[in-house]
Amino acid sequence: MSTKRVAIIGSGPAGYAAAVYTARAELETTIFAGLEPGGQLTKTTEIENFPGAPKGVTGPALVMSMQEQAMRFGSEVVYESVGRITKQEAGGFEVETESKTYLFDTVILAMGASPRMLSIGEEKYWGKGLSTCAVCDAAFYRDKVAYVVGGGDSAIEDSLALTKFASEVTLLVRGEKLRASKPMQKKLESSKVKVLYNTSIKEILGIERITGLVLDASGEEKEVVTDGLFLAIGHIPATKFLDGSGVSMSEMGYVKTGLVDGNVSWLTDFPTMTNVPGVFAAGDCVDYRYRQAAIASGMGVMAALDCEKWLGKAE
Ligand code: NDP
Repeated sequence: MSTKRVAIIGSGPAGYAAAVYTARAELETTIFAGLEPGGQLTKTTEIENFPGAPKGVTGPALVMSMQEQAMRFGSEVVYESVGRITKQEAGGFEVETESKTYLFDTVILAMGASPRMLSIGEEKYWGKGLSTCAVCDAAFYRDKVAYVVGGGDSAIEDSLALTKFASEVTLLVRGEKLRASKPMQKKLESSKVKVLYNTSIKEILGIERITGLVLDASGEEKEVVTDGLFLAIGHIPATKFLDGSGVSMSEMGYVKTGLVDGNVSWLTDFPTMTNVPGVFAAGDCVDYRYRQAAIASGMGVMAALDCEKWLGKAE
């Protein structure tokens, strides 16, 4: 079995941006795109804040053009999920999919993270009033009514982002208190956001798009009218298959790199490297804070440059 230079696991902006750089640097690159290629971008509609797309671009169009650019420089795309990566004693990594095992000198992890869902059938409203990213979509709610679900920092950040546009913003907290940090809670208090505690969503109303919600407010059912629903109830990084690989992850399952954890000994040369030499990581599987396509792309570029430099040193 021949050993290729770079395996990129994940086909969102982090993975494709990394592939553009590694392939253009003439490092033989394979992207493992998974069974649902494209990541979170394929679930968004219009993206107005991706630099370089002044007229806006749809998520699927953006991801397809990133793939085309990566392939232009010779990256290969495998439409399978990776089940395991194993460090080889002689150096390099075995990357296993359901049908085949491959060998690579290095691996860039870019699997992303999925927003946690309520599981009440909300998926059918994606882009039709349902969003998991207020930074991306708040501007579409000018003079409209919006509800946000969650009690952490993201929920407050999303609610505050919406106040700049929406006429009314209500935050639904399932329990008695917020989990968010004190400074964020303070910001919330001095905002126009209305907070309803002990309130959850029983049902989403609307045919073409969201028009209302049925709430369970301390056991009492009530119907409200809304134009939008923003879920901010956490994310699940797609890192389960790394269990047993030796790659360090946080309690929440995010991959640790020097860049995010600030481990200075890693930061010196390879900020995007994990604790396993030769394994790098980028995008939302690392970044629990920003979760933006532009940032994931930038992190992918950083991982590719670190990887190239590391391969140069390892030779
Ligand atoms: P968190 O995991 O911190 O919070 C998730 C929230 O969603 C909790 O309040 C939880 O409720 C609620 N929740 C979970 N499931 C449901 C459900 N089914 N129905 C209703 N509510 C639900 O996630 P975040 O995305 O807010 O934050 C992730 C990390 O990113 C944190 O470390 C955070 O501090 C950080 N961050 C920091 C920011 C900043 O500093 N400005 C901005 C954004 C994120 P419960 O509390 O009852 O469990």
